[in-house]
This record gives sequence, C-alpha cells and structure tokens, in this order.
Amino acid sequence: MSFRIALSLVSILLLSSAALPKKGPLPEKKPVTVEVPVPAEKPEEKAQEETDMPAKAEPAPAKDDKEKPAPADEDKKDAPPADDKATVEKPEPVLTIKPEDGKEYTACLADLKAIGAVFEETKRIDDGKGCGIDKPLTVTTVLPGITLKPEGTMRCETALELARWTKDAVLPAAKAALEEEGPLTTINQASSYVCRLRNNAKTGKISEHARGNAIDIASFTFKSGKSIEIQPRDEDSTLAGAFQRAVTATGCLYFETVLDPGSDEAHENHLHFDVIERKGGYRYCR
Ligand SMILES: [Zn+2]
Repeated sequence: MSFRIALSLVSILLLSSAALPKKGPLPEKKPVTVEVPVPAEKPEEKAQEETDMPAKAEPAPAKDDKEKPAPADEDKKDAPPADDKATVEKPEPVLTIKPEDGKEYTACLADLKAIGAVFEETKRIDDGKGCGIDKPLTVTTVLPGITLKPEGTMRCETALELARWTKDAVLPAAKAALEEEGPLTTINQASSYVCRLRNNAKTGKISEHARGNAIDIASFTFKSGKSIEIQPRDEDSTLAGAFQRAVTATGCLYFETVLDPGSDEAHENHLHFDVIERKGGYRYCR
C-alpha cells in the first residue's frame, strides 16, 4: 500500500470519528414505574381451592413482587407476612368447629320450619382437623313436596338458603320453563357434609363441605319423571338451558359461593353452593 493511500485512509478515519458524535453509553432507560394494581380480594383462588380436582395452573395475575393476596377466608387473615416459601401450602393449623350462635340458630330453625322443610337435628359431628358441624341437621325435604335426594347433612343456614332459593328462584323458573313436566319433586344432591380438604388435597384448607356450609346440586326431577341434569349449558338454547342458567344466576342471591359447569372441570356436572363467611361480604359466583 502506498504511503498516499495509507495517509488518506488515516484521514478518513480521523474525519469520520470526528464527525460522528462520540459514542457514549446510551442514555439509560428510565425504569418504568408502572403501578401494577394489586388485585383486591382474589376470589379466583377461593374458587380454585373449592374444586374437587387438583388445582389447574392458572395464569398468575400481573407479576409483581408482592405475594398473591391470601385467599379471602377468615382463618388466613391474621397470618404472618408471607415469606419466600409462601407459595408452598402450609399444613392447616388445628381447627375447632365453629359453635353456632344460640339465638341465630333458634331463629334459623324457626324459619326453616316455617318455610316447610323437613329435617332432624342430629348429634354434633366432630371428625377432627376442623371437620364437623356443631348443630347439624339432616334434611330430607327442602320444601313441601320437594325431596332432597339423598338426604343431606348440613348447617341450618345452608338448609335455609337452599329452601329459600328453591322457593323463590327455582320454582318460578321451573314454572316458566318446564311447566308441562309438572311440579318439581326432587332436588338431587351430589354432596353435602363431607370431611375433606379443598381439592381433596393432603394439605391446605378444609372444604366448606367439611363445615356443613356447602351443598352440591346434580339435577332436578319433575313429576313427569323428567330430570334436568346440571351440565355445561352456556350455549344450550333450549328451555332446560335457560332454566339452568336462571337458577345458577339466582343462586348468588342466597349463597356466598356459586360454582357451575362454566367455572372449571370439577363442576361439569353440579352446582356448588356454599354459605362461607367472607370478610368484606363479597360473593363469588361464576
Ligand atoms: Zn361442592
């Protein structure tokens, strides 16, 4: 290479480096301070835990550093701040069975009799680990002429809401949708009191069924013999579909939790109703 060419190369290099702005570090991107809204009470978790199947891996809500809020349930409210292992289910602390309030219980029994339910007061159930009912009822008839099949064991409050829902919501819907089938004669239940944890898991929180707070409805039978089974009916354009959707929606007026076939696979064939007490009084219905 001739000296001349070399020289011009050097000058080009010098020129270009002078012409270009010094390549400094790029201006630092300001950290984006998006405020991630912290979901308030997170009913999804409640519902997930209430299923009879292992929990689905639900997509986590907007990721942030905060732990997911604890399920809105009375017994976790005062839990110590979650540590790094907070996602690991901790064994349920030893629980006692919640005693019935004497006055409320007496009023409930009177209302249940007045509405026409047939039931028997039975012996306190204590199956350990918080499973049990202080003052259980065995319910055989929800309303006059409407049998609960098989008979169900539950708290008075559960039985009363079941009777009210049947009277004020199910019967009118049945009359509008299925009058030719005759009167409703049977509510077929799939589960009332049962000592188990949510999800049927080995650790975790106990199901509302284990407190006498829950009832699962599998189908309705009419005098004609026709039964309307609970099944996925969001797209069902028949009157049976309209009937199921109506009684599901109205369930939320009486129960704190309503889970139907649209909520998850665990409820493909029944409605789960419970009278769980939640702080803030919110209801979870879907
Ligand atoms: Zn249930």
